[in-house]
Amino acid sequence: MPSTETSSDWKLSTSGTYWVYTRPLEKSDNDDRDYRLIKLANNDLEVLLVHDKDTDKSSAALDVHVGHLSDPVDLQGLAHFCEHLLFMGTEKYPKENDYNQYLSEHSGFSNAFTGVEDTNYYFEVGHEYLEGALDRFAQFFISPLFSDTCTERELKAVDSEHKKNRQQDSWRMFQLEKSLSNPDHPYCHFGTGNLETLSEQPKRLGKDIRDELLKFHDDYYSANIMKLCIFGRESLDTLTEWAVDKFNGVRNKNISPPSFEGHPLTEKELKKQIFIKPVKDVRSLEMTFPFPDQRPLYEVQPGRYISHLIGHEGKGSILSLLKKHRWANYLQVGTIHGGIGFEFLRISVDLTEEGLANYEKVVLVIFKYIDLLKNHGVRESTFREVQSLASLAFRFKEKYPPSQYTSRLAGLMQHGYPSEYILSGPSLIRDYDAKSIEENLKWLGPDNFRIMLASQTPPKDISFTKREKWYDTEYEVVDFNPSLIETLKNLEADPELQLPEANAFVPTNFETDKKDVKQPIKKPELIANDSRLRLWHKKDDTFWVPRANVWILFRSPLAYATPSNCVKTRLFTDILKDSLNEYAYDAEVAGLCYNIENQLEGMLLAIGGYNDKLAVLLEKVIRKMRDIEIDGERFKLLKDQLRRSYKNFSLEPPYQHALYYLSYFTQDKMWTTAEKLKELDAITAEDIQAFYPTILSHLHLEALVHGNVKKEQAQIMLKSVLDILNPKELLPSQLIGHRSLILPEGTKWVYQRQVEDPNNVNSGIEYLIQVGNVTQTSLRARLSLLAQIAQEPCFDQLRTKEQLGYLVFSGVRKQTGSMGMRFIIQSERDTVYLENRIEDFLEKLKALVEKMSTEEYKAQVQSLIFKKLEKDKNLGQEGGKYWAHIHSGYYEFDQVDKDVQELNKITKESLLEFMDKYINPSSPNIRKLSVHLQSQKVPPTSSYKVNIESLHTCLVAQGVTRLSIDDLRAAVERGDTGESSIQAILREMLIDETKAEESEIEALMAKLVTAMRMTPSATDRNGTGKENNTPDDTINGSFVTVDSKKTARRLSLMNGDSIDMDSSGQSTPIRDHSKLPDGNIVILDSVQFKTKMELSPAAVPLIDF
Ligand SMILES: [Zn+2]
Repeated sequence: MPSTETSSDWKLSTSGTYWVYTRPLEKSDNDDRDYRLIKLANNDLEVLLVHDKDTDKSSAALDVHVGHLSDPVDLQGLAHFCEHLLFMGTEKYPKENDYNQYLSEHSGFSNAFTGVEDTNYYFEVGHEYLEGALDRFAQFFISPLFSDTCTERELKAVDSEHKKNRQQDSWRMFQLEKSLSNPDHPYCHFGTGNLETLSEQPKRLGKDIRDELLKFHDDYYSANIMKLCIFGRESLDTLTEWAVDKFNGVRNKNISPPSFEGHPLTEKELKKQIFIKPVKDVRSLEMTFPFPDQRPLYEVQPGRYISHLIGHEGKGSILSLLKKHRWANYLQVGTIHGGIGFEFLRISVDLTEEGLANYEKVVLVIFKYIDLLKNHGVRESTFREVQSLASLAFRFKEKYPPSQYTSRLAGLMQHGYPSEYILSGPSLIRDYDAKSIEENLKWLGPDNFRIMLASQTPPKDISFTKREKWYDTEYEVVDFNPSLIETLKNLEADPELQLPEANAFVPTNFETDKKDVKQPIKKPELIANDSRLRLWHKKDDTFWVPRANVWILFRSPLAYATPSNCVKTRLFTDILKDSLNEYAYDAEVAGLCYNIENQLEGMLLAIGGYNDKLAVLLEKVIRKMRDIEIDGERFKLLKDQLRRSYKNFSLEPPYQHALYYLSYFTQDKMWTTAEKLKELDAITAEDIQAFYPTILSHLHLEALVHGNVKKEQAQIMLKSVLDILNPKELLPSQLIGHRSLILPEGTKWVYQRQVEDPNNVNSGIEYLIQVGNVTQTSLRARLSLLAQIAQEPCFDQLRTKEQLGYLVFSGVRKQTGSMGMRFIIQSERDTVYLENRIEDFLEKLKALVEKMSTEEYKAQVQSLIFKKLEKDKNLGQEGGKYWAHIHSGYYEFDQVDKDVQELNKITKESLLEFMDKYINPSSPNIRKLSVHLQSQKVPPTSSYKVNIESLHTCLVAQGVTRLSIDDLRAAVERGDTGESSIQAILREMLIDETKAEESEIEALMAKLVTAMRMTPSATDRNGTGKENNTPDDTINGSFVTVDSKKTARRLSLMNGDSIDMDSSGQSTPIRDHSKLPDGNIVILDSVQFKTKMELSPAAVPLIDF
């Protein structure tokens, strides 16, 4: 019997294989699913089963109560590495991509993450395939292989993941915070890991990473500290049976969840100021207090009450006063769970320049407010408000996608709540306990915190003299001035600081008029359409929650007419939001949010939340839009903020820039950040004051009201908007939307530029093949089918096998007037190399489709159809889809149905024809554009050299003809950590390819090892007729550039049937990875390029209004 509960709560099943929890689980009124909590009798694994009779996707998640705090000191990143490796094959399913392939064929996917004290694994799959997925999933926790070759390769994935994070301030600040904490507490460790911590250092210490990994897994992967959640359409009995059958093999080692002595912030770390130099131009102040672990306090949640008040943005709040002083733009506060027994409370303030100069005064204001909280005592009415909003949110909770739900529940199961609260956990605040809140408040004392101040230039008398070990972040640490603590202990009250008034936005009407609906309506209805307004509406008939979402697009051709107008419109929306902040904050707290932003077409306002008071907020926003008086001082600060955000854009990750420039080259009109930045300086508050009325004077509104709002109410809402703004109409010709640029048939374009951040080691590429107009159903269906088929093999090849980088993506790019197949990679490799690898993958993809059996092909089609027909999980998802169809200008509400019809008709042959015509890079119809963002850092090299050619020749001579030189090169590159790893990879490839006996493989390996150590002969080096002779034909940085055509011919003659031959029997030239594939035109002048391109049609409605 489980030990923590009383015996009457748990009952042993008749089979004796599991215990079942007998009390009801507390759940949301809005939750129609059934739950069962069980514990396997033989290994103590706790499993939560969720039966959802309507779900079209199933899921499971498993959380292990071990995270990177448990990494050995000299193997930091091990828990994370274990998470990566766990999925690479099991004894029962040895193929390394078996799991992902299975999921991908059945509309699913998987993911995992490693936290400080948890590692969480989850997947989602079409509901009919849950059992198969579970069987595979369970094996990872029973008999993972941790194969040698995967170990070597995934080291690179982890290393690449760290490099992706290295230039990101959030990661840098997180690690600095950790690095500067108590050295005797594992919180100070580096959780991600990289080649140094997981490969170089263990080697120096004589440790074998794989042995260590097995040991870690053996120590911590125990059933009794795992929690599993299974979600499916099957009955609870069936789900129970599967849970028992599949997971009773997980071993129970009867361990306790790891916990740690002491706190990361002790006397020695507190009362310090840390000055940090961020990558981006940001200015922020963070105050961090050690705080009591809130999990055992889940009934009262003192941290929530305290954060609610400190983070308040209404009248009398800290932020309100800081803004009055012009010291801050935003403020955030929250508790951060560290691990068992320790937590932090952190207040973060986004500072203005003046705020930076006065940061100590900012600290004083915050402490004055904390004093106010302490002196005033806990206010029950405020607590009750927070409590009732929490219970409303729980009562009307909407569904998440299944894998988000299981992942979250499996995590919550680790928190130690009583079993009956396993679903509700911290969502509800159960008890009022003023004393407990006061006790927690005491932790916010003047000698119990430290400061982290981020700014590119340090305050005067401070210079950055130190560098953090893992991120190389520049910083400095200084003790608090003793007088600061004295001052903080003797503050005078500030009359401007007050506790908030009662919140008028708390909803009281929750009527949804629920009735039985057999067939929910699948599109919104057009309920107004004239020269100033087109209004769409759908009363919710599916989710029955008292919520609604409203979108209003204010179309104006002026808003994006010039870079200057674009910037002015942006500033206008920023100012509007800023001036409404105090007012709208209460609405936000009460679950009703809005946002307004500038767009190509004008401005988009979106409001969503409880519908009860939605119209009140909408009217207030519209009135402010019409009447706003621009405050010159606030304007300056917002302009500064915008300037920094434009500038900081250049420091975004390289792949983001690749996406951005690709958009730039395929859209008819797009102002670049640089162009906007140039205009910004000259713009004044008066300019905005004069500008916005001209925008508002002529408008066309297009709106969607979706949710718990009746037709008449929707009409009244929009009528009120028109009455307030009273715009004149626009001409129909002013409403013509934007267009795509269409690449000429048979052309391949490349745009290359440097990554602006000189310190970023990553390069990025987006590779796009344009296929046609988004409205062409037959092409659209084929394209999405191909993307579906390509997705898993692309990841498997370019990420898992070749380890090009952590970010590898393939899919469909859709724009107004065009669509295409896209590949995105961020990598330390040269972008020309990446371009070649993508094209090489495209060749493989073709072969893969050709080889597919009818069953495999049909499974892919079904998998995609299933994904397309997937039901919406909540109101927001449904409405968002309608809005996307409206906003696109195509109004193709039945797009999915049309696609599915078409998909059912596509034969494999016609897909291959499609690939030949549109996708094949050497097709006469190809339209390709790629954008290369090349790092300024030189790609890494290793001193290890391999002679690929002789390796290849040797293989062929041994009768292994199926591995091309490219395959070999890719294999060798993965193993760039040394000869042993290359050997391991070769061995694995041979096993895969030849299916030979072990002894044969070993014999072959011996020959290969000799061959790959050979230096290339002089004749080979000089007599190859290559256009680009590189100084060294061997691999440098494990990369071969030799691949001569002569050798290729020789090899293909020797092996008439298979090597480097495509299906037509033609020999394909071997790829030279150091130069662009043939036929590429480099874009030198972007304007000239855009001038020459044809335009697609603009969007036209595909339905009659
Ligand atoms: Zn990772």
